[in-house]
Parts: sequence; structure tokens; C-alpha cells
Amino acid sequence: MRTTIERRDLGPRDVLIEIRYAGICHSDIHTVRGDWGSVPYPLTVGHEIVGRITEVGADVTRHAVGDRAGVGCMVNSCRECENCRTGNEQYCLKGNTQTYAGVDRDGTVTQGGYSTHVVVDEDFVLRVPESIPYEAAAPMLCAGITTYSPLAHWNAGPGKKVAVVGLGGLGHMAVKIAAAMGAEVTVLSQTLGKKDDGLRFGAEHYYATKDPATFEALKNSFDLIINTVSAPIDMASYLGLLRLDGTLVSVGAPPEPLPVPVFALFGNRRSFAGSSIGSIAETQEMLDFCAERGIAPEVEVIGAEAVNDAYERVLASDVRYRFVIDIDTLR
Ligand code: NAP
Ligand code: ZN
Ligand code: ZN
Repeated sequence: MRTTIERRDLGPRDVLIEIRYAGICHSDIHTVRGDWGSVPYPLTVGHEIVGRITEVGADVTRHAVGDRAGVGCMVNSCRECENCRTGNEQYCLKGNTQTYAGVDRDGTVTQGGYSTHVVVDEDFVLRVPESIPYEAAAPMLCAGITTYSPLAHWNAGPGKKVAVVGLGGLGHMAVKIAAAMGAEVTVLSQTLGKKDDGLRFGAEHYYATKDPATFEALKNSFDLIINTVSAPIDMASYLGLLRLDGTLVSVGAPPEPLPVPVFALFGNRRSFAGSSIGSIAETQEMLDFCAERGIAPEVEVIGAEAVNDAYERVLASDVRYRFVIDIDTLR
């Protein structure tokens, strides 16, 4: 539904961004459907935002009017806790301020990027390299960083075997980034329907998880598994695919718990971990890395009127590979 939302007046350290594109993340869908708990309606979602800076506050030094800017999943943090001080503000101990459905400094509920303008503290605004196609830049602000961060943290690179579970918005970026880092990448998708795409994105191997033979063939194979699935998966089966000291990192955020049988961890001294987006510095690093390597998401640009249909297609795993809203259709 179209409505009018208020943005705060520009403070001395704020920038005003005229939004051009906003990606549709599965987290937007979890949120509006109440998968993760109650929703502070009325709410505008969207945390994959790109646009141009049209105004800057008096004390802004990092950005200028006319810059191409990006905003991801968080717009502030306490800046004082141990995690903020060490550059891990996504793990702010007081909770980072989420781009939507969070509580802003002035006590209001934050509103996301399916909108024409946003006001953000300059420290939480990214520089989007001009070489990245405008509409493709948007999904990098969540899907890109959420996969780049664990791949970098767990040292995906030459000699490492990495599996990506689920070839959706996050999954296809995980494949592209892990391949660019030099890892040997395998896609684990429900079917072989997207195999050609997976190989084109840089994977060397592609298996269907609906086929039980996959879990036999790939036992004890991977150093790192990035799970991007938005629904629960059978943990024992996937943990069994890790080789000695391998780690399964879940970035997928299903509403239900993922029960872990400990004996699946004992074998091969395996680990199960989670990871949440990435820091602002790491997000800039990811944007620059992708620009240098010519990596960008595959997007389907839609008008604002098509958002509900797009949600249905994402829920049916029928996304190739990220829907991006052309915000001009809202003006
Ligand atoms: P998406 O585009 O819908 O991709 C998810 C993929 O998972 C689907 O394309 C599908 O891939 C697979 N899948 C879906 N349902 C499945 C099922 N029932 N069983 C097996 N596989 C299934 O979603 P996304 O935007 O990439 O987001 C993925 C998840 O990450 C969501 O839960 C989202 O909330 C979460 N997320 C977490 C963070 C974080 O910071 N940790 C950040 C962003 C998003 P195939 O068709 O290839 O099987
Ligand atoms: Zn997201
Ligand atoms: Zn903090």
C-alpha cells in the first residue's frame, strides 16, 4: 500500500539520499509476514538501498552532494561498546539500529528503503563505485555483505572447498564471491533446475539436495558450508558433508530452530556457526572487491506495483536472482 512516511530533519552528521533502487531481501518477507515476531505497523521495509546524495549536514566529511550512496541493514549503533570499538558494530552489544523496524535515536520506528528518500548518519552510508551497475548495486548492501563476511572470516580461498546451500539472492552472491576469492565452489540446490546459472556464476560442481545420493557422494568434503536457506534444513545431513575442522555457517534465518545432533559435530571436529551481515568497513571492502572483480548480482527490476507478486515468487524459490524495485515508479 502506498503511503507517506516522515524522515527526520537533516542533522549535522546526516546525509539525505534520493533513493533510486531498493532490493527485495527474504528478510523483508520474513518481517512483514511476522515470521520473526510482532511487526511495528505501519512499516516500510527494504535494506538494500542505493541512490544519490542530495543534501549533507554541516559537519559531514565523508560524503558529498552528488555521490552515489548505499545503505544496508543498519543505520546506527552505540559506538561505545567493545564490539563497536573493535569495528564489529553489526554486533553492537546494545543492538545496532536496524534500517527498518528498529528504534531510532529519536525514539521513532525506522522505515526502510521502499521509499523515495532516506536520512542516514554519514558513518553508516557506503560509497558505491560508479562501475557497478546502479540497479545491481542495491542487493550488495545485504546479500553481498552477508555472504562476503563469513567467506572472508572463515578464509574461503585457494585450496578451500566451499559449498553454498540455496541459490537465491544470498546464495548466488556467495557463489560469485567465493569463486572470486579462489575457492572451489559447489552449489547445493533443491533441484538441478538452475545448474547452468550456478556454473556461470563460478561454481565448479552442482548437486540436487532432493537426491539422497548427494549426501553420500559429498560426505566429508567441505571446509566451509554457507547455508542461505530461509527454511529449516536437516542439520545432521549437512554437517556430515564437512571434512576435518570444517564449519557450517548459517546465514539463513528461518523462524524455527535448527536442531543440531551433537554426534554430527564430534566427527571431524566440526563447527556450526552463524553470521550477521558485516561491519560498515567490511561492506565498503566488499563493494570495492566486487567492483574490481566485475562481480554484481543478477537482478530483475520491477515497478513498485509488482512487489506483492515478487514476494510470492521469492517464496516459491522462483527468483533470478534478486528483485530490485525501481523507486522512480513511486515518485
Ligand atoms: P531467497 O532469495 O529466497 O533464497 C533462499 C533460497 O533457499 C531459495 O532460493 C532456495 O534455493 C532455498 N530454499 C528456499 N526454501 C527452501 C526449502 N524449504 N528447503 C530447501 N531450500 C530452500 O532468500 P535470501 O534473500 O537469499 O535470504 C535467505 C535467508 O537469509 C533468509 O532467511 C533471510 O532472512 C536470511 N538473511 C540473513 C541475513 C544475515 O545477516 N544472517 C541477511 C540477509 C538475509 P534453491 O532453489 O537453490 O534450493
Ligand atoms: Zn537482507
Ligand atoms: Zn555498540
